[in-house]
Amino acid sequence: MKTLVVNCGSSSMKFALLDPASGAVALSGLAERLGGAGASVRVDREDGRVTVPLPNGSYPEAFGVLLAELDRLNARAEVQAVGHRVVHGGEQFSAASLLSPEVLKAIQACVPLAPLHNPANLEGIAAAQAAFCDVPHVAVFDTAFHQTMPEVAYRYAVPEAWYREHGVRRYGFHGTSHAYVAGEAARVLGQPLEELNLVTAHLGNGCSVAAIAGGRSVDTSMGLTPLEGLVMGTRSGDVDPGLHDYLAREAGLSLTELTAALNRESGLKGLSGLTNDMRELEEAAGQGHAGARLAVQVFVYRLAKLIAGMAVALGRLDGLVFTGGIGENSAAVRSATLARLAVLGFTVDDGANAAAVRGQSGVISASGSVSTLVVNTNEEWMIARETAELVARGL
Ligand code: AMP
Repeated sequence: MKTLVVNCGSSSMKFALLDPASGAVALSGLAERLGGAGASVRVDREDGRVTVPLPNGSYPEAFGVLLAELDRLNARAEVQAVGHRVVHGGEQFSAASLLSPEVLKAIQACVPLAPLHNPANLEGIAAAQAAFCDVPHVAVFDTAFHQTMPEVAYRYAVPEAWYREHGVRRYGFHGTSHAYVAGEAARVLGQPLEELNLVTAHLGNGCSVAAIAGGRSVDTSMGLTPLEGLVMGTRSGDVDPGLHDYLAREAGLSLTELTAALNRESGLKGLSGLTNDMRELEEAAGQGHAGARLAVQVFVYRLAKLIAGMAVALGRLDGLVFTGGIGENSAAVRSATLARLAVLGFTVDDGANAAAVRGQSGVISASGSVSTLVVNTNEEWMIARETAELVARGL
């Protein structure tokens, strides 16, 4: 029996059919440009990749293709549950939840906290429930893992009424990935997760670090929204909150324009004036592009500073984990970050670091250093596992 994992973005739908016990993937695909012209679904079959156009560009139409693929594999009856990635669960969800009318209402109530993400998640859930009406559906929240953060880590120094009346606090995101790689790191280190204090760095297009004490998140760099913290592909991360007022006065920018620029035109892209893609930036920096070099340097500096900050949350640091597209592939970013962290007892093993790319993982620290690992994240498998566990307990 298998779990279907559905991850809907504002114009995309990622799906995978997995065995939750082994992680083996029977089918996976990605629908893109939903809601607009030129929508299509890319399906990864065992004998290669096919692309199916979606003339209506809707979530139900994308689900139609998914159903046809399942029928082609004779696998529709194997779907025992559907696991949905939901970005924001607010303070209501500290774990995955079986989808009920009440849970759907609570996800709806979190829409103001994630106006781009939660509506897409709800649309995906509706389409999936219509297509798979006989199996349990589970919501797995990006924020849930971080609900163990203590108040000292999640409160902002702003008027208390903003927290009480509007939920203004730090929530954190990428929880599924941080939880997965922490578990994998413990397995690789051969130590119980409960006895380890880890910092995990999820570095993809979105980036965040988390402090994980004994398997529980005690701090993370993202906050009320996924804009806080590290420099990301197109997101600024931390800026002075006085910036909005200043630019509104000086450049005549509206709040909407400022928010869009901080989310889509900033980060590596803004700093370099070139691209949000770390691979391209490393190449351009190598060829002497000053903006690309600066973007990578700022990315690394801010990353090292926030990792060092997470050490304060943990008290004792047993290990650092790199994951995400950049964390799993950029030996240069990892070694530059570890050089900045020498003050905390980190030394890199250059050979091991250079080898940990393109799907290769493992320990990259030299002997005597705080353990440092590269772990390939697998959010789909984590969602499938949490879904299957919840369904098994619920039956
Ligand atoms: P993700 O969102 O996890 O898919 O990560 C996307 C980021 O990973 C982009 O910035 C890519 O440029 C970066 N990335 C992927 N492969 C490499 C690589 N070989 N070297 C450096 N960065 C990479």
